[in-house]
Amino acid sequence: MDTILALADTEERAAIRDAVQALCDRFDDTYWSERDRSGTFPFEFHQAFAQAGWLGIAMPPDYGGAGLGITEAAIMMQTVANSAGAFAACSTLHINIFGPHPIVVHGTPEQKARWLPSLVKGEVRACFAVTEPDAGLDTGRITTRADRDGNGYVVHGRKVWTSTAQEADKIMLLARTTPREQCARPTDGLSLFYTDLDRRHVQVHEIHKMGRAAVDSNSTFFDGLKVPLEDRIGEEGKGFRYLLDGINPERILIAAEAVGIGRRALAKAAQYAKERVVFGRPIGQNQAIQHPLAESWAELAAAELMALRAAHLYDRGEPCGAEANAAKYLAGEACFRAADRAVRTHGGFGYAAEYHVERYFREAVLTRLVPVSRELILCYLAERVLGLPKSY
Ligand SMILES: Cc1cc2nc3c(=O)[nH]c(=O)nc-3n(C[C@H](O)[C@H](O)[C@H](O)COP(=O)(O)OP(=O)(O)OC[C@H]3O[C@@H](n4cnc5c(N)ncnc54)[C@H](O)[C@@H]3O)c2cc1C
Repeated sequence: MDTILALADTEERAAIRDAVQALCDRFDDTYWSERDRSGTFPFEFHQAFAQAGWLGIAMPPDYGGAGLGITEAAIMMQTVANSAGAFAACSTLHINIFGPHPIVVHGTPEQKARWLPSLVKGEVRACFAVTEPDAGLDTGRITTRADRDGNGYVVHGRKVWTSTAQEADKIMLLARTTPREQCARPTDGLSLFYTDLDRRHVQVHEIHKMGRAAVDSNSTFFDGLKVPLEDRIGEEGKGFRYLLDGINPERILIAAEAVGIGRRALAKAAQYAKERVVFGRPIGQNQAIQHPLAESWAELAAAELMALRAAHLYDRGEPCGAEANAAKYLAGEACFRAADRAVRTHGGFGYAAEYHVERYFREAVLTRLVPVSRELILCYLAERVLGLPKSY
């Protein structure tokens, strides 16, 4: 299949979009504003998706999944993002869709059978703990350590921004198993674990943040967490490489989500611009209102095409680093601009919670920051695509 055909909306993709849309329509702006205001996890929404079988969209059929590609997962997540729940709704599901990727690729059959079905059914919720306060994007500098102890490991250290850790049963954790000084490269000697989040040895403190309050993010402290050997994914010391395998699909999904949020904000802006009359005519009759919105439509469409192209390459097993990174960059920028313009189109009312665009705007800020910043993406493209010297 060539790329143009691959980007076409097949019957299956249209069916995914329609079914996901129908499910999202049950949770309106009022539902999500309330979750945002109170900082309450949207359990009903998560359960509705689990019961309808969507959490396993990209999981292997042998473990209860639908076995579809990242293209279909991206279409699903874009549809979720383009609903009232925007980024919060996506983040509720994201870890189930993307998080188990290292297990699927590097787990043993026993581990897959033990872990994947409960994730697919939504019976178990997991969080993802890589980022540390003193390492940031420089993952080779993480200091959380997993020391060998009998037939397993004991973990000490701390993570930051661990999303959904307030409620999660399981944690996917990257920790150092060989001191950095003894490794050829800083990213060697790190191991990946998927294990019980045993709260007797893990303290979780919520971080109060700008947006997406329905989905918690946390500082997480490990004090003697015991991890059995059978909860290590793959070989000791190769955890960072396993994470790298999942980087492109995650960027593609976040790009799709950013496009969805941008479209949601844009639709609200266009609607308001048609209805709001000032100086005796709808504000949307002014080109100073029209043009930025039209430009955002074009920017979002271009970002979507790049994301679909990256997804198509990924699903064919072809390299897609440049496209996945470019998609994440373009989509984050387009999303942010669309959400900013949506607020400004609403004038003062854009600042009022009841119009919802301020909530989308606060979430749009995040699409430029996670899971990797726009600067680091540009560093990657400069180095890997343009052949410029590594700058970080
Ligand atoms: C709401 C939220 C949820 C998150 N959820 C999770 C989660 O579930 N699990 C998890 O592990 N992490 C999570 N993260 C962490 C997120 O992935 C990191 O915040 C992100 O990777 C950036 O790391 P940092 O914040 O430490 O930035 P830093 O590494 O401190 O960087 C700060 C700034 O400096 C820039 N910078 C740094 N070095 C360079 C350079 N060489 N050249 C140019 N610019 C540079 C960066 O681009 C960035 O703008 C979450 C973050 C947020 C905000």
